[in-house]
Amino acid sequence: MTKIIKQFEHIKQRIVQAMHSSGRTAPETVTLLAVSKRHPYEKIQSLYELGQQHFGESYLQEALQKIEKLSQLEIIWHFIGPIQSNKTKDIAQQFHWVHSVDRLKIARRLSQQRPIELPPLNICLQINISNEVQKSGFSTTNIHDAIKEIISLPNIKVRGLMAIPAPVAEGNEQFIKQCIPFQQLRELMLQLNKDYQLDMDTLSMGMSNDLEAAIAEGATIIRIGTALFGSRET
Ligand SMILES: *Cc1c(COP(=O)(O)O)cnc(C)c1O
Repeated sequence: MTKIIKQFEHIKQRIVQAMHSSGRTAPETVTLLAVSKRHPYEKIQSLYELGQQHFGESYLQEALQKIEKLSQLEIIWHFIGPIQSNKTKDIAQQFHWVHSVDRLKIARRLSQQRPIELPPLNICLQINISNEVQKSGFSTTNIHDAIKEIISLPNIKVRGLMAIPAPVAEGNEQFIKQCIPFQQLRELMLQLNKDYQLDMDTLSMGMSNDLEAAIAEGATIIRIGTALFGSRET
């Protein structure tokens, strides 16, 4: 328990420091998303009691159990994992945000299946920013084909972009190398806003190892697992 308090304080300190270093003066413009996948619900509860409200999960069955267990708490749940199309209904019903919308079909289904009594589902479009063959996401070019239809879907609200860049080796210029894909993601969002007259306001980027670079490039949501909760059970 004391360990999680320490790690929570440490992350908040890293965020403050990173914002300061990059001249960002409004603390409320970065949201800490605590990535609790593969950690038990008790840890979520502990962090919630310390004031953390946003939690991210990647595995649907595991997430649904936690959402049920913690239903009395006012948690804002974010789905950040790979999405199979037969899982969209539960996601549309149970989450407030989805960061990993990586194809048109998924966006359509989430909109169709979002209960109308709920506010529109907040979504981020996942971009394969480092063009990795094994990674899912829209490419920086095919996003243009998809976004026109996605923004017309009634029950989702396109809030922004998400990316998981290829890891950068430790060593010289690590920070500068980490910044490049984050900068590309920011520029892509600005371009899409301009081309399609959108008001996307969210850059979901930065994890335990690269949050400083992400914040320097304008991240508004950083997704932190290991640095908060320790290593995951496999
Ligand atoms: C697991 C995961 C994270 C958290 O990663 P850490 O390195 O543990 O901070 C962030 N984003 C996504 C999409 C993840 O799957």
